[in-house]
Amino acid sequence: KPEFITGPSIREFSPSHAGAIDLQQKELQEVKSNFVEARCQIKLMQSEWQDEIQRIVHHVKAMEVTSSSYHKVLEENRLLYNEVQDLKGTIRVYCRVRPFLPGQKDVQSTVDYIGENGNIMIVNPFKQEKDARKVFAFNKVFGQNVSQEQIYTDTQPVIRSVLDGFNVCIFAYGQTGSGKTYTMSGPDLMTETTWGVNYRALRDLFHISNARTHVVTYEIGVQMIEIYNEQLLTLDIRNNSQLNGLNVPDASLVPVSSTRDVLDLMRIGQKNRAVGATALNERSSRSHSVLTVHVQGKELASGSILRGCLHLVDLAGSERVEKSEAVGERLKEAQHINKSLSALGDVISALAQKSSHVPYRNSKLTQVLQDSLGGQAKTLMFVHINPEVNAVGETISTLKFAQRVASIELGAARSN
Ligand code: ADP
Ligand code: MG
Repeated sequence: KPEFITGPSIREFSPSHAGAIDLQQKELQEVKSNFVEARCQIKLMQSEWQDEIQRIVHHVKAMEVTSSSYHKVLEENRLLYNEVQDLKGTIRVYCRVRPFLPGQKDVQSTVDYIGENGNIMIVNPFKQEKDARKVFAFNKVFGQNVSQEQIYTDTQPVIRSVLDGFNVCIFAYGQTGSGKTYTMSGPDLMTETTWGVNYRALRDLFHISNARTHVVTYEIGVQMIEIYNEQLLTLDIRNNSQLNGLNVPDASLVPVSSTRDVLDLMRIGQKNRAVGATALNERSSRSHSVLTVHVQGKELASGSILRGCLHLVDLAGSERVEKSEAVGERLKEAQHINKSLSALGDVISALAQKSSHVPYRNSKLTQVLQDSLGGQAKTLMFVHINPEVNAVGETISTLKFAQRVASIELGAARSN
């Protein structure tokens, strides 16, 4: 042997080193087999998706060949859309964190972390460090600084599907003061930049319906109802001379053709409410208010009709009322709210789990919305949380409710 080729010395192969190498080999083996397994999984997923995409492409091609009328395209579109949508589910839950109010700048927040993928971590300062943190998963989480515009951008696809004949329910859930009305209506009717989902949705629907006038003519009507103590109250919004004389089946349904009409109606509605302004504010947190937008499209070529319905629901405050605290009217209200919110939760989670029995009959709210919950209909729930420390109990119970409704697995990847 030439001198310069020196093999490993005896010392380098000491038993302890050999052990270390064994371990490394084992780890390497493990990594390798994990890797192989992961690749198999990916391959499997890829082929599943490829099948799905192939199917869709065929479908679209077939559609192009056979569809002579717009209506047919829409119908097909609807089915196709739902098939694709079904892969992701038709129930979505978004969480929105209310900012601190003016003058609360340095207040401690219970929101510890918001992840990109829809996770939110809450810290409860009243608990021991090891039990203080909880993570919840939703389709999306919007932090304190998210604008009304951004919120609408993520709501728009669901809203627009109403023009294609879908029924849609959008709910605002959360304790009183958590921002439900802010999300749905905004702080001020007169300021367009802070408009909530309601007015943006209507503006958008008018916009699209105007753009489609050469193929479909749409009629849009709105209706406002309130559910208080399991009683349904229809708000009279009709006494506007310009809007009279149109042929609608339900007298409380008022045709509208611009956002201005809608704003006028809102004002009339406010005026015609049975209670005064202060009482109204008080009571609004204890009643569910539903703005329903009915859309009917008539295809010019064939004369066929397509109907869609959008329900925008500002729910009663979800805060639990202490038994000892509530008496008389207040107790009755609390019981009704409790009943209807849990009935709503039961319905949505039954739908999310594709359960064969959906308990619509358990509350007025779910009865009223029955046709727009489940089946082909789409549901979007905004759950609102108030980040203040003294709200942490309600925040956690709100998120637990929402989590049950969402049926989203923690850490699971999801898209909107
Ligand atoms: P809720 O309807 O749930 O009782 P509100 O929508 O009335 O709550 O909100 C309570 C307060 O917080 C209001 O003063 C509202 O203007 C304010 N607020 C709520 N959400 C936001 C937000 N995203 N940005 C700014 N202010 C908000
Ligand atoms: Mg409110």
